[in-house]
Amino acid sequence: MTPQDPFAKKREQMVERQIRARGVRDLRVLDVMRRVPRHWFVPPGEEDLAYEDRPVPIGYGQTMSQPYIVARMTELLNLQGDEKVLEIGTGSGYQAAILGLLAREVHTVERIPELAQQARKRLARLGLENVHVHIGDGTLGWPEHAPYDAILVTAAAPEVPQRLLEQLADGGRLVIPIGDRLYQYLERWTRRGQTFHRERFEPVAFVPLIGEHGWEAPWM
Ligand code: SAM
Repeated sequence: MTPQDPFAKKREQMVERQIRARGVRDLRVLDVMRRVPRHWFVPPGEEDLAYEDRPVPIGYGQTMSQPYIVARMTELLNLQGDEKVLEIGTGSGYQAAILGLLAREVHTVERIPELAQQARKRLARLGLENVHVHIGDGTLGWPEHAPYDAILVTAAAPEVPQRLLEQLADGGRLVIPIGDRLYQYLERWTRRGQTFHRERFEPVAFVPLIGEHGWEAPWM
């Protein structure tokens, strides 16, 4: 945070009022959410929306998730710093930036090429060379770099895609919104050998995960 940053105060308020006040306690998560310039990840001219307590439209019918939801999902992954992480749904690239500062290596997959390109530029501007943006159907995971210590899905699925469970390392955590197209619950799946421990957390509302092991595209 620099004195020249016109959004530094808004970012501090975001962390205190929207994130810490709602119970997120992981100090590393709070620290990176204070540091990453969220306004770099919204469309030009929309910077004032970046620190509001809601998702921000980023074009192509997609959104950058609400700050609290980014923090909460990241906290549920329980990252210590040495993990290889897979994110499905790059969107703006903001969540990938947060993960990139908390883990060793991040692979993030986006199905809309234009969003992936924009995210690449923003991540490069931040100097995050450990975050790799791939274009494709993330319901298939990204087998090339599997297994992953943590997988984060930032779009809503009807059920956990089997391919993602297969690409989770032993002891790894997968966090995903599961439900119907409009409303879901956050779930965390932890791998123990060939079995998975499933936990359910708060209700959320994400855009759909569209692909072979997700929802069908609306125009299909
Ligand atoms: N994590 C993002 C951020 O920080 O801005 C927000 C993600 S937005 C809520 C969901 C994203 O998932 C959209 O960009 C959408 O295009 C993408 N998506 C949906 N289905 C997908 C799939 N099968 N593979 C990859 N990306 C997908």
